[in-house]
Amino acid sequence: MTADRPSDSWNGTAALHVLLLGAAAGGGFPQWNCGCAGCRAARRGDAPRSGQVSLALSADGENWVLVNASPDILSQIADTPELHPRGLRETPLRGVILTNGEIDAVAGLLSLREGAAFELWATDAVHGTLATNSIFNVLKPERVPRRVLVPEEVFVPRLPDGREIGLTIRPFAVPGKPAWYVEEVKAAEEGDTLALEIEAGGRRAYVFTACAEITEAIRARIRGADLVFFDGTLWRDDEMIRAGLAQKTGASMGHVSVSGPEGAIARLEGFGIGQKVFVHINNSNPILLPDSPERREAEAAGWEIGQKGARYTLCTTSPSIPHRGN
Ligand SMILES: [Zn+2]
Repeated sequence: MTADRPSDSWNGTAALHVLLLGAAAGGGFPQWNCGCAGCRAARRGDAPRSGQVSLALSADGENWVLVNASPDILSQIADTPELHPRGLRETPLRGVILTNGEIDAVAGLLSLREGAAFELWATDAVHGTLATNSIFNVLKPERVPRRVLVPEEVFVPRLPDGREIGLTIRPFAVPGKPAWYVEEVKAAEEGDTLALEIEAGGRRAYVFTACAEITEAIRARIRGADLVFFDGTLWRDDEMIRAGLAQKTGASMGHVSVSGPEGAIARLEGFGIGQKVFVHINNSNPILLPDSPERREAEAAGWEIGQKGARYTLCTTSPSIPHRGN
């Protein structure tokens, strides 16, 4: 545990630490019922496997908040020493931030039910969805207080005793859609899909696990960022249809493509961003294959392909230093 600090506001030595616990889209890599070329390569060991996307953020390396609780969260925590308990029943996880209500963002909450205290941050709409699914009542509000995310309002995650942990986070709405399992009962509204602006130690990072369109407002906002994690679901909009996997386009799922004139590579070129990393990568996306021309193209354009276990530390005094885990 950290030593007591004299005030309730952050005054420690801050950096911005990000752990990429998993980088795959819903379904994971490989997906349990998929025999596509990518999933077969992952099963053979010819492409690195990954669970569904989840990240952990910290300013001090001791207290962490999760961005989304993926269905793979138990193995992701088990594989990550920074997130292990330091006491008999203890966790360095101080909060979970939900950027949307999709199953790959919320299902892991059910695995975090063993009585630990942490804050649960989500929009009113996502809290409402969870509240109508009584199984989530297993997270007792006395231990897991529900905090409301309001787009464009900054918040600071705190320890159970109220002290800040040194992270400043601003959620903001991006083009998207409601979770697919509520689409028929809930109208689309602004804030269904959030991205996060994260600051610590004077460094600035962004997390977009989903984004349906890269608007001028998004481009202006992330200019000069130190680190950007961006929606890398599909290489091209119709790749799942062309591969015979599903009758779904990226647009129908609320995801812009990696390639093409409106895609992430083209639209995020030249904004002075320190590091750009694709996450939420669907198993149909050829960038997951180590020797694919699409992966080479993305890397040549300055993108990193998100890798389970990758670690990033942005220090206050030095340029971005990526640390790659195993
Ligand atoms: Zn597959």
